[in-house]
Amino acid sequence: MCGIVGYVGSRPATPILLEGLHRLEYRGYDSAGLAVAARGRLKVTKAAVRVDELRDLVEENQPSPVGIAHTRWATHGEPTDANAHPHVDGAKRIAVVHNGIIENSGRLRERLAAQGVTFASETDTEALAHLIGAALADGAESLEDAVRATLREVNGAYGIVVLDAQNPGQLVVARNGSPIVLGIGDGEMFVASDVAALVRYTQRVVYLDDGELATITADDFVTSTLQAHRTAKTPTTVDLDDADYQLGSYANFMHKEIWEQPESVRRTLLGRLDERFGTARLGGINLDARALRAIRRVKFFGCGSAYYAGQLGANLVEEWARLPADAEPASELRYRNPVVEEDTLYVAISQSGETADTLAAVQELKRKGGQVIGMVNTVGSAIARECGSGTFLHAGPEVSVASTKAYTNMGVCFAMLALALGRVRDLSVSDGARIVAGLDSLPSLIVEVLGAENEISAVAKEHSGAERMFFIGRTRGWPVAREGAQKLKEISYVHAEAYQAGELKHGPLALIEPAMPSVVIVPDDELLAKNIGTIEQIKARGGPVIAVTNADLPDGLADSVIQVPRSEPELDPILFTIPLQVFAYHLAHHLGRDIDKPRNLAKSVTVE
Ligand code: GLU
Repeated sequence: MCGIVGYVGSRPATPILLEGLHRLEYRGYDSAGLAVAARGRLKVTKAAVRVDELRDLVEENQPSPVGIAHTRWATHGEPTDANAHPHVDGAKRIAVVHNGIIENSGRLRERLAAQGVTFASETDTEALAHLIGAALADGAESLEDAVRATLREVNGAYGIVVLDAQNPGQLVVARNGSPIVLGIGDGEMFVASDVAALVRYTQRVVYLDDGELATITADDFVTSTLQAHRTAKTPTTVDLDDADYQLGSYANFMHKEIWEQPESVRRTLLGRLDERFGTARLGGINLDARALRAIRRVKFFGCGSAYYAGQLGANLVEEWARLPADAEPASELRYRNPVVEEDTLYVAISQSGETADTLAAVQELKRKGGQVIGMVNTVGSAIARECGSGTFLHAGPEVSVASTKAYTNMGVCFAMLALALGRVRDLSVSDGARIVAGLDSLPSLIVEVLGAENEISAVAKEHSGAERMFFIGRTRGWPVAREGAQKLKEISYVHAEAYQAGELKHGPLALIEPAMPSVVIVPDDELLAKNIGTIEQIKARGGPVIAVTNADLPDGLADSVIQVPRSEPELDPILFTIPLQVFAYHLAHHLGRDIDKPRNLAKSVTVE
């Protein structure tokens, strides 16, 4: 959450900072700001505006070759000009940008106020600026020492970048729980909360670890721990460039990412399917047949869409490997003191690889001796590193806040994991080969789904006046319904709720009326008759029905039908989710929503 960018080099910093913020805006867009240093003074521009408007407020021709910048996702204090970052100390010497939450900021603020400090904002972050300024005034030997002394007093999560107007040849950065990555240029150095802001300038990066600080200058970086021990970091090269973050001819990133799915699914399948033996090989998981056989249970965990995808994965593991499997929100798992068993495989799921709750759950499970693998999209991310083994989703950068292609690739990767677990048990080679063929044909089936975009858009338009909607699914259709409801609510703000079909009559049916449409997931499988029964029950109460189906439903049964091509029945949940993405997208579009930047949300949730 939140975007951080910093630069120290020889070029004017401002355009580079603005460009970096532009790339990171999806990670928080409550306000934006930047600070540069010129002639021993800070020049801070910040306001409760989007990055494009910030551009109009700053002096673009400001020559200062050092600066820091931020887009905010507010945790302490409303999105106002005053609460926008960077924050400065009383002497206006130190500027700080911060991603995360300082948990003891209340006490720190009280202490500083008692010492006569006047606060200009309600943020937790501002306390850091005052503390660092005070440490320097008290004779700290360097900015890094002042930052280190301050951070020793701080509890919470942070990625910070600090600029000292009196020492403008350097920036000090630190990380604990919120991502920070250094970008190494030629005679210039970058820092950001995500590589997206850097790839236009460099592919050579260094990821900081939790508890690490760095002092960066135009030519060098030096890393150390909070205890002042030097650490050794080797730069890595990221396989991304600026084109991966360009919209091209699309109106927004969600639309682009929906349409990238045939290609991103193809990419994640590449080299992983074994037709001959009807199985899949997930190289990073490092479990041979015996180790796979020793697993007795599988637990998926993640947040939001990743959690719903986990449910889809758990169903596949149960179905193919006949192992008990379930999914749980990481935020629950981390706090409820779970029983951790050594023969359980724990699967951490995250697009960004930085999701705070998921990372904390991984750490807790490892502490208890659990065997954890990561299913993560972002290479070099904290969860990928913490898990040590796992599989990358290979969806490519996902910019839009609402997940689409990463979600789909989660489903595909879980199918491959379930297949591998099934094939060392009772799943036959011919069933395995059938599933391999089914996975292989997914990209072309997705192309077919997307080919019906206009029809799906028409259905969405027809229902765009609804203030609330149900999404109903049963067994395989249940994670589909949950993800469909999630997509709709996050980008359209229509109240969407998912229910298991059988649960409807136990309460929620009371809400059915002509103003409450239900999207019903109806795969042509062994439960078809049951799902048709559910539609009849809704219709009998006057509720409009949108059926999403690959069956030939009786004419007039549903008010609208979204037809999905046939795939292997177990893979239906992956394919059926895609028309629901398109449905949510067009409904939000008809309502004129800011699709890539939905209100109150942000990409990459790095706070609790
Ligand atoms: N907690 C800080 C604030 O509310 C930083 C939030 C962020 O990560 O953007 O300003």
